[in-house]
Amino acid sequence: MTVSEERMQEALATLKSSGVRITPQRHAVLEYLMHSMNHPTADEIYKALEDKFPNMSVATIYNNLRVFLDIGLVRELTYGDSSSRFDCNTSDHYHIICNSCGKIVDFHYPALDEVEQLAEQVTGFNVSHHRMEVYGTCENCQNNQRH
Ligand SMILES: [Zn+2]
Ligand SMILES: [Zn+2]
Repeated sequence: MTVSEERMQEALATLKSSGVRITPQRHAVLEYLMHSMNHPTADEIYKALEDKFPNMSVATIYNNLRVFLDIGLVRELTYGDSSSRFDCNTSDHYHIICNSCGKIVDFHYPALDEVEQLAEQVTGFNVSHHRMEVYGTCENCQNNQRH
Protein backbone atom coordinates (compact mmCIF):
# COMPACT_ATOMS: atom_id res chain seq x y z
CA MET A 1 0.00 0.00 0.00
CA THR A 2 1.25 3.47 -0.78
CA VAL A 3 1.34 6.16 1.89
CA SER A 4 -1.72 7.90 0.47
CA GLU A 5 -3.67 4.62 0.32
CA GLU A 6 -2.75 3.96 3.92
CA ARG A 7 -3.89 7.42 4.93
CA MET A 8 -7.09 6.93 2.96
CA GLN A 9 -7.84 3.72 4.88
CA GLU A 10 -7.13 5.49 8.17
CA ALA A 11 -9.34 8.41 7.19
CA LEU A 12 -12.20 6.08 6.23
CA ALA A 13 -11.86 4.30 9.56
CA THR A 14 -12.00 7.67 11.36
CA LEU A 15 -15.14 8.62 9.42
CA LYS A 16 -16.79 5.31 10.29
CA SER A 17 -15.97 5.56 13.97
CA SER A 18 -17.34 9.12 14.02
CA GLY A 19 -20.61 7.84 12.59
CA VAL A 20 -20.22 9.79 9.34
CA ARG A 21 -21.93 8.22 6.35
CA ILE A 22 -19.52 7.65 3.48
CA THR A 23 -21.31 8.68 0.29
CA PRO A 24 -19.59 8.24 -3.10
CA GLN A 25 -19.12 12.02 -3.30
CA ARG A 26 -17.66 12.23 0.20
CA HIS A 27 -15.32 9.38 -0.68
CA ALA A 28 -14.22 11.18 -3.85
CA VAL A 29 -13.54 14.49 -2.06
CA LEU A 30 -11.50 12.70 0.58
CA GLU A 31 -9.61 10.70 -2.00
CA TYR A 32 -8.76 13.85 -3.94
CA LEU A 33 -7.45 15.51 -0.78
CA MET A 34 -5.37 12.49 0.19
CA HIS A 35 -3.80 12.05 -3.25
CA SER A 36 -3.19 15.66 -4.17
CA MET A 37 -0.55 17.05 -1.89
CA ASN A 38 -1.17 20.55 -3.17
CA HIS A 39 -3.51 22.02 -0.52
CA PRO A 40 -6.49 22.58 -2.85
CA THR A 41 -9.25 25.17 -2.47
CA ALA A 42 -12.89 23.99 -2.52
CA ASP A 43 -13.10 25.35 -6.07
CA GLU A 44 -10.15 23.29 -7.24
CA ILE A 45 -11.69 20.15 -5.74
CA TYR A 46 -14.97 20.99 -7.45
CA LYS A 47 -13.28 21.40 -10.84
CA ALA A 48 -11.37 18.15 -10.43
CA LEU A 49 -14.52 16.18 -9.62
CA GLU A 50 -17.18 17.85 -11.73
CA ASP A 51 -16.82 15.40 -14.64
CA LYS A 52 -17.28 12.45 -12.35
CA PHE A 53 -20.12 14.01 -10.34
CA PRO A 54 -21.99 16.46 -12.61
CA ASN A 55 -24.69 16.97 -9.97
CA MET A 56 -22.31 17.94 -7.20
CA SER A 57 -22.22 21.63 -6.27
CA VAL A 58 -19.46 23.69 -4.67
CA ALA A 59 -21.74 23.85 -1.61
CA THR A 60 -21.60 20.04 -1.36
CA ILE A 61 -17.81 20.21 -1.44
CA TYR A 62 -17.89 22.78 1.38
CA ASN A 63 -20.28 20.65 3.41
CA ASN A 64 -18.01 17.65 3.07
CA LEU A 65 -14.95 19.71 3.97
CA ARG A 66 -16.79 20.97 7.10
CA VAL A 67 -17.43 17.36 8.12
CA PHE A 68 -13.76 16.48 7.64
CA LEU A 69 -12.72 19.60 9.59
CA ASP A 70 -15.05 18.76 12.48
CA ILE A 71 -13.55 15.33 13.00
CA GLY A 72 -9.99 16.55 12.47
CA LEU A 73 -9.24 14.87 9.15
CA VAL A 74 -8.21 18.07 7.42
CA ARG A 75 -6.94 21.48 8.38
CA GLU A 76 -8.11 24.75 6.94
CA LEU A 77 -5.41 27.17 5.85
CA THR A 78 -6.21 30.83 5.47
CA TYR A 79 -3.81 33.28 3.92
CA GLY A 80 -4.98 36.86 3.73
CA ASP A 81 -8.24 37.21 1.86
CA SER A 82 -7.72 34.46 -0.72
CA SER A 83 -10.00 31.44 -0.39
CA SER A 84 -9.27 28.77 2.20
CA ARG A 85 -7.07 25.86 1.28
CA PHE A 86 -7.40 22.42 2.76
CA ASP A 87 -4.59 20.28 4.06
CA CYS A 88 -5.02 16.58 4.78
CA ASN A 89 -1.63 16.45 6.45
CA THR A 90 -2.57 17.11 10.07
CA SER A 91 0.85 16.33 11.50
CA ASP A 92 2.95 19.28 12.65
CA HIS A 93 4.54 20.95 9.67
CA TYR A 94 5.26 24.33 8.18
CA HIS A 95 4.46 25.71 4.73
CA ILE A 96 6.48 27.43 2.05
CA ILE A 97 4.42 29.41 -0.45
CA CYS A 98 5.34 30.41 -4.00
CA ASN A 99 5.00 34.15 -4.64
CA SER A 100 4.32 33.56 -8.34
CA CYS A 101 1.88 30.64 -8.56
CA GLY A 102 0.64 30.30 -4.98
CA LYS A 103 1.74 26.69 -4.67
CA ILE A 104 2.10 25.52 -1.06
CA VAL A 105 4.63 22.86 -0.11
CA ASP A 106 5.00 21.12 3.25
CA PHE A 107 8.26 20.97 5.11
CA HIS A 108 9.14 19.68 8.51
CA TYR A 109 11.15 21.49 11.11
CA PRO A 110 11.29 20.88 14.83
CA ALA A 111 8.40 22.84 16.37
CA LEU A 112 9.59 26.27 17.43
CA ASP A 113 8.51 25.77 21.04
CA GLU A 114 10.96 28.37 22.36
CA VAL A 115 9.11 31.06 20.44
CA GLU A 116 5.92 30.19 22.30
CA GLN A 117 7.68 30.11 25.66
CA LEU A 118 9.39 33.41 24.99
CA ALA A 119 6.14 35.01 23.85
CA GLU A 120 4.45 33.84 27.06
CA GLN A 121 7.24 35.21 29.24
CA VAL A 122 7.40 38.55 27.47
CA THR A 123 3.68 39.20 27.12
CA GLY A 124 2.00 37.15 29.86
CA PHE A 125 -0.27 35.58 27.22
CA ASN A 126 -1.37 31.99 27.44
CA VAL A 127 -0.09 30.83 24.04
CA SER A 128 -2.27 28.38 22.10
CA HIS A 129 -0.28 27.95 18.90
CA HIS A 130 1.79 29.76 16.35
CA ARG A 131 1.99 29.79 12.59
CA MET A 132 4.89 30.47 10.33
CA GLU A 133 5.01 30.69 6.57
CA VAL A 134 8.07 30.92 4.37
CA TYR A 135 7.75 32.62 0.97
CA GLY A 136 9.76 32.30 -2.22
CA THR A 137 9.70 31.17 -5.85
CA CYS A 138 9.10 27.48 -6.55
CA GLU A 139 11.35 25.47 -8.86
CA ASN A 140 8.75 25.48 -11.64
CA CYS A 141 8.43 29.25 -11.59
CA GLN A 142 12.20 29.68 -11.38
CA ASN A 143 12.53 27.61 -14.58
CA ASN A 144 9.75 29.52 -16.31
CA GLN A 145 11.38 32.84 -15.49
CA ARG A 146 14.65 31.73 -17.08
CA HIS A 147 13.06 31.06 -20.47
ZN1 LIG B 1 5.47 28.75 -8.37
ZN1 LIG C 1 0.51 21.23 4.57
